[in-house]
Amino acid sequence: MSNLILDYNLSDNSWFGLGGKAKKFFSPNTEKELISYIKNYTSENFITIGSGSNILFRDKGCSETIIKLGKNFRKIKIVDDLLFCGSGSLKNQVSKFALDNEIKNMEFLSCIPGTMGGGVFMNAGCFGYEFKDIIKEVHGIDKNLNKIVIKAKNINFNYRKTDLPNDFIITELVLNIIYGSRKCIEEKITKFKKEKKYAQPSKIKTGGSTFKNPNSNFKAWELIKKSGCDKVKFGNVKFSCMHCNFIENHGNSGKDVEDLINYTIDQVKKKFNIILEPEIKIIGDI
Ligand SMILES: Cc1cc2nc3c(=O)[nH]c(=O)nc-3n(C[C@H](O)[C@H](O)[C@H](O)COP(=O)(O)OP(=O)(O)OC[C@H]3O[C@@H](n4cnc5c(N)ncnc54)[C@H](O)[C@@H]3O)c2cc1C
Repeated sequence: MSNLILDYNLSDNSWFGLGGKAKKFFSPNTEKELISYIKNYTSENFITIGSGSNILFRDKGCSETIIKLGKNFRKIKIVDDLLFCGSGSLKNQVSKFALDNEIKNMEFLSCIPGTMGGGVFMNAGCFGYEFKDIIKEVHGIDKNLNKIVIKAKNINFNYRKTDLPNDFIITELVLNIIYGSRKCIEEKITKFKKEKKYAQPSKIKTGGSTFKNPNSNFKAWELIKKSGCDKVKFGNVKFSCMHCNFIENHGNSGKDVEDLINYTIDQVKKKFNIILEPEIKIIGDI
């Protein structure tokens, strides 16, 4: 199978630029290919990923088969006043498509890296908007290889998480359309991008916000700073000076990132009795 790669270097699909090898990396171009592969390899465990902008892959690699949906899962189209996006389409492409078609409320997508599939799985968001605000339906394949449609009202969307099962492969998203003025949409995109540029570091190897903001008077970045963890280094890994909830990787060790995450959880627990929950997903063998 030409779209099956053995011993795939996961760092090639990681915003951290880290990760050992996946025994198998499968990138189907069609739903038929996806279903027939899983049918043939029923004993394998699978993890579906998008662009890897929210994942730390461990150094020892991954025994599960990694699935990344290929080019036919990147289509974006309007049908009957609904916006259909393949789950592999990138958020900024969807935002550009929405601008070109004068669709509003999708401006925030221009500021979040990665695919639409990863975005809905994480209920990603910024500037007061989240995926839950635009989703009508999520289409995908469940563990029994049934093609299913889940209506947004049946998904439990929370802060940077949903109750979509881990073994559910999201193939397509259907978004509600509200038309607006091109000028307003364009202005909003420019404003959001400018605000992001001032608030968050760019051109670094990172996974975005490391921790979710806890239910407390303090944001995650404040707890990192107050506990002194913003000054701590593990190897060539540290928190960013510009936004200390972002980890910057300047080395080649996923263990250093994981150690910094665990050390910070420990320190914040000791000093403030607050348990920080990572937003970043950690995948791979121990
Ligand atoms: C510089 C930077 C800035 C960021 N800013 C923001 C921000 O403002 N707001 C925000 O919310 N996040 C932000 N993030 C985090 C990240 O970009 C988002 O969570 C994004 O939605 C992840 O998309 P992805 O395609 O990279 O998913 P991945 O990181 O590849 O995967 C994320 C999760 O989704 C699952 N998944 C992915 N695709 C599928 C699929 N097709 N089917 C089933 N499961 C799937 C994966 O298994 C994993 O658990 C930022 C990250 C970086 C690096």
